[in-house]
Amino acid sequence: MLQTPIDYLKGVGPNRADLLRKELGIHTYQDLLNLFPNRYLDRTAYFKINQLQPNNTDVQIIGSLVKFEEVAQKRGKRLVGTFKDDTGTMELVWFRGHKWIRSNLKLHTSYVIFGKTNFYGGKFSMPHPEMELLSEHEASLRSAMQPIYPSTEKLQNKGISNRVLSNIMQQLFMETKSRFTETLSPQLLESQQLISKTDALFNIHFPKNQALLAKAQYRLKFEELFYIQLQLILKNLIHKSKIKGLPFHTVGTYFNTFYQQYLPFQLTNAQKRVLKEIRQDLGSKAQMNRLLQGDVGSGKTIVGFMTMLMALDNQYQACLMAPTEILATQHYQGLLAWCKQLNISIKLLTGSTKKAERKEIHAGLVSGQLQMLVGTHALLEDSVIFKNLGLAIIDEQHRFGVAQRSKLWHKGPKKQASKTELQSKLKALVNQYSKSHPDSMQLLKTPGLQATERHKQATDVLAKYLAGKAGNNLFIRHYALDLFVVDFYCEEKKLIIQITKEAFANNTEKEAYALQTHVLKSVGFQVIEIPDTAIFNNSASSFSQLENVLTKVATKTPDTAIIPPHILVMTATPIPRTLAMSVYGDLDVSVIDELPPGRQAIKTVHRYDKNRLDVFRFIRDEIALGRQVYIVYPLIQESEKMDYKDLMDGYESIARDFPPPNYQISIVHGQMKPADKDYEMQRFVKGETQIMVATTVIEVGVNVPNASVMIIESAERFGLSQLHQLRGRVGRGAEQSYCILMTSHKLSADSKTRLETMTRTNDGFDIAEVDLKLRGPGDIMGTQQSGVLNLRIADIVKDGAILKTARFMAKQILKEDPTLSKPHNQAILNTYRQMSKYRNIWNYIS
Ligand code: ADP
Ligand code: MG
Repeated sequence: MLQTPIDYLKGVGPNRADLLRKELGIHTYQDLLNLFPNRYLDRTAYFKINQLQPNNTDVQIIGSLVKFEEVAQKRGKRLVGTFKDDTGTMELVWFRGHKWIRSNLKLHTSYVIFGKTNFYGGKFSMPHPEMELLSEHEASLRSAMQPIYPSTEKLQNKGISNRVLSNIMQQLFMETKSRFTETLSPQLLESQQLISKTDALFNIHFPKNQALLAKAQYRLKFEELFYIQLQLILKNLIHKSKIKGLPFHTVGTYFNTFYQQYLPFQLTNAQKRVLKEIRQDLGSKAQMNRLLQGDVGSGKTIVGFMTMLMALDNQYQACLMAPTEILATQHYQGLLAWCKQLNISIKLLTGSTKKAERKEIHAGLVSGQLQMLVGTHALLEDSVIFKNLGLAIIDEQHRFGVAQRSKLWHKGPKKQASKTELQSKLKALVNQYSKSHPDSMQLLKTPGLQATERHKQATDVLAKYLAGKAGNNLFIRHYALDLFVVDFYCEEKKLIIQITKEAFANNTEKEAYALQTHVLKSVGFQVIEIPDTAIFNNSASSFSQLENVLTKVATKTPDTAIIPPHILVMTATPIPRTLAMSVYGDLDVSVIDELPPGRQAIKTVHRYDKNRLDVFRFIRDEIALGRQVYIVYPLIQESEKMDYKDLMDGYESIARDFPPPNYQISIVHGQMKPADKDYEMQRFVKGETQIMVATTVIEVGVNVPNASVMIIESAERFGLSQLHQLRGRVGRGAEQSYCILMTSHKLSADSKTRLETMTRTNDGFDIAEVDLKLRGPGDIMGTQQSGVLNLRIADIVKDGAILKTARFMAKQILKEDPTLSKPHNQAILNTYRQMSKYRNIWNYIS
């Protein structure tokens, strides 16, 4: 019933249905039901005209029209209606639709009008009021809390006003008799004290009062978040049970030697705890997929390195990928020192690695001689093939997409047969069968076999169907695999979908089809065959079979032959817990929540540009103490040229105040060649220069413990997380460090909040929470591609508490009933299936 197309609802019709589809994505009754109001207007109060105040709020008045009048204005005319009640008169004004209004609104008849009032020239007026006959108003189901639905300009212009939407909604409730299937289990309703689905839907659309509205909202938010969490947790469980991991049985010599002899400092308790968590993953039979969160300077690198040692101890290779060349280089140099002590071979691979060196690296990786590789996304290139990659670490995750994460998977050992390998196998088989079954094989070579009109039509239908699926663009149509042109081919999964004829012309043709499938399967492809009749009949069973396969394919390891490496993602972008639960719900999360001992909290101050001389004096004092200083300028894409000029102007003025030979200055910005950048960086790292003038290229990960001052120019132009990242470049040694935020006097309210937050706290999670509140979740790093934020009613920021409960309950339920097969979870299972079927959930999960 709820899947009925919206066109069938009384009062909708084809035109409105079209608009609803295009403008609001409402295709079915169900979609309409799920169009929740943005807000509600309290329409319990009626105003008299003499009670109106010039405050431009929404008011509701009962009265009648006494006359219409057209008034010329600058462009066109406006229609003015005189509206009167027993206390006075006011004007109703229309700028459009005069004809319709004059012929449809009745004079001297009681109306309820609703809208915002203007006060001008001693008179009240209401432009484009919502109007309803008093008689209808009294008879309507509409409650005193009037829902305001999401709308678009187009809908408004085409006459689908809020009132029309309300009426359509009423019609829906009438047709469905306001009975809706319960989607949560009785246990959940009981334990969470939730109202029923039917009551919730009724009260979200027609709230009887505030209290019931609140209950309805709570129930629906809970439900929404609950099902997202259920999906994520299931995904994670399926992952763990289905995806085999490389078993790291031992903690061996490398790890132990390093731990006992070369550990440069004592690990913090947090580092130890995280290492244990990682060790547990690696020892289990499942693939590790772990996110390691830790504030800047919390010491993630050494945890990553020691994890790499575990891989080596089990005869696997390990790699570490960083987002920038500078950072990769720095990691490499840090790790190189440790590797030398342990006699481990390690190399650096970036975009600027020379060809000869590159070749050597490739060879070393394939032969297994090279044990560790550090690099940028150059690591992802197809030419980089490992002998047996056991662990991939990704530093600063937000710079990499999910796609890149999955690309690393394919670099696991027993690498999936490459395309060329497959093709040569295929060729061999084709040759073999051409000899034994010449007729059938000949038939396959003639295009006539597949090029019938019927076949083409069936392919069109299926193509449309597949295009709507998750991972739609994975399928290539008419893909040529040697002799065969297959109907649909998914490279990544080595999956083929073939449309077969129900009735074959003759035995040769039948044999040809069978051979083709047989050959493809024996080469290692998965082949799904769907009879063309099933497609034309839109046969449910065959589509649901396909659906099952597609779901399986989506969650399955690309090929049983490869075992993906363990993955550890390290990020210094503190993601608020609530968000992490949703965005990284499919990853396990470890947190280093403790800084190494002896660190002094960085002192942060805000200074205006006019205090620059004081700031320079301070820099001079710090340099005299032997410290180093960063001065950072903003670089925002759109205004790159201007920013560059700011940077150069700044550099010149600094150079004037800090002249050689007493002072040396490094400069690093995005327009420099990598080699020059590197050279300048290195001078600073070695302490040859005291001041580093830079754009945000140094934002991520750079480690110079002797640097104690971070000056951020035009700090008001940076986002909170960026400011926090930048500040994290200092405070890495034992010395007291400082961060000075320079701004002009003109500051927006948000900038002020950002600056205040920075001077108030050093806690990344605290800062992330403020950031989330300021910017909303859409902008927080790492969430853009996740799509978790298309929530219908819940708010990821405000409803953190509900999210937590929902996640907890989802976990509980899956713990005691992992397959949701117990009778009392029937409603949950049904809803879950329904959601997967209608793909709602794919809107949430990338
Ligand atoms: P991040 O988590 O930001 O990547 P790093 O791994 O770069 O942090 O560590 C920051 C600095 O702290 C480095 O100089 C590192 O050597 C040092 N460090 C890490 N762990 C400890 C520890 N347990 N005790 C003392 N210093 C540590
Ligand atoms: Mg780091």
